[in-house]
Amino acid sequence: MHNQLAKNIQYRRDVLRVFMLFAFVCGLLFSLINFSRGLYILATLELSFGLFSVFLWRIIPTTPNLDKWVMAYIIPFFLMIMYGLSVQQSEMDIFVWILIIPLLAYLLMGRKKGFWVSVTFVVSGLAIYHWRLISNDIKPISINIITSSLLAMTIAHVYELNREKNEQRLLELAGTDSLTGLANRMKLDQGFQHFSLLIKRHDINLILVLFDLDLFKDINDQYGHNVGDKALCFVANFLKKNIRESDLLARFGGEEFALLMTSSDIDEAYQHINSIRERLSQHPFINNKNQIKITLSAGIAAYGIDGTNLDSLMKKADDRLYIAKSKGRNCIVVTG
Ligand code: GH3
Ligand code: MG
Ligand code: MG
Repeated sequence: MHNQLAKNIQYRRDVLRVFMLFAFVCGLLFSLINFSRGLYILATLELSFGLFSVFLWRIIPTTPNLDKWVMAYIIPFFLMIMYGLSVQQSEMDIFVWILIIPLLAYLLMGRKKGFWVSVTFVVSGLAIYHWRLISNDIKPISINIITSSLLAMTIAHVYELNREKNEQRLLELAGTDSLTGLANRMKLDQGFQHFSLLIKRHDINLILVLFDLDLFKDINDQYGHNVGDKALCFVANFLKKNIRESDLLARFGGEEFALLMTSSDIDEAYQHINSIRERLSQHPFINNKNQIKITLSAGIAAYGIDGTNLDSLMKKADDRLYIAKSKGRNCIVVTG
């Protein structure tokens, strides 16, 4: 789900495919009409676009270069509309195609490109049409054409803006743990890609810390699952407050948390995590006047030394977490 949202292209493929079918039928139909009228250039262009549409219709579902194909099709298509508008013999109602420009541009290219392409071609189309009316001694362009074109563009713009916001919101939800509001495993995977690029550019170390709360089952058993949930949120907030904003903290499922942090070296990371451990053990979670002491254990792994992908770092940090538990809990392990 997330990949589809992030690449933001599946719905564009669907829109483009419907448009290609439509363009194929219209291309053939209009080229026949215009050939019979002697408008050979326009008719040839229309026929070419009809055939190009069939080709695109076939490759759209699978091509990795959708954006490039969209540009390769849409810009010449809009240019053809401009040409059609300027041909003196074409029907005057050809102007209605101007209204379709913003719709297609926004749906197929997104908000930013859609805006510039729409402005360029809508304004050009209206100017050409105006010039054609004047040169034929017909009443100049009416306010209705201008306002309806502007309306089509505004609606397409507002629609696309809201679609982008909803998509962004879905992306955030898809990457968020619903109980604590921290990142989830999926966001951690993405964060790791981001961090591994970052450390290649800067001379810093990437550290993965895997936390597991000690004997958490006892808290659930003694106070109930709801209080256990509140305790998890308390720990999530506590950890969040004690790390840098640039570090990435995720709930890893159950009562486990993972932290991706940059550090000048592994010793510094250890000191930092160990001081968090110590402070948590001194700050009990207070629920209905009950002071619930929570401690954690953690395993630390360093990028480059313990692995270069998230799975191998996780494995190493988990092994060390296991050692920390076997040492009696409330403990951090960085080697072994
Ligand atoms: P250890 O020190 O060995 O980690 O002991 P533990 O009791 O923390 O570990 P164990 O894996 O045996 O149990 C983890 C417990 O965490 C089991 C489950 O009741 C609790 N837990 C997992 N997810 C949640 C959750 O979302 N909410 C609550 N309230 N409890 C949870
Ligand atoms: Mg656990
Ligand atoms: Mg535990």
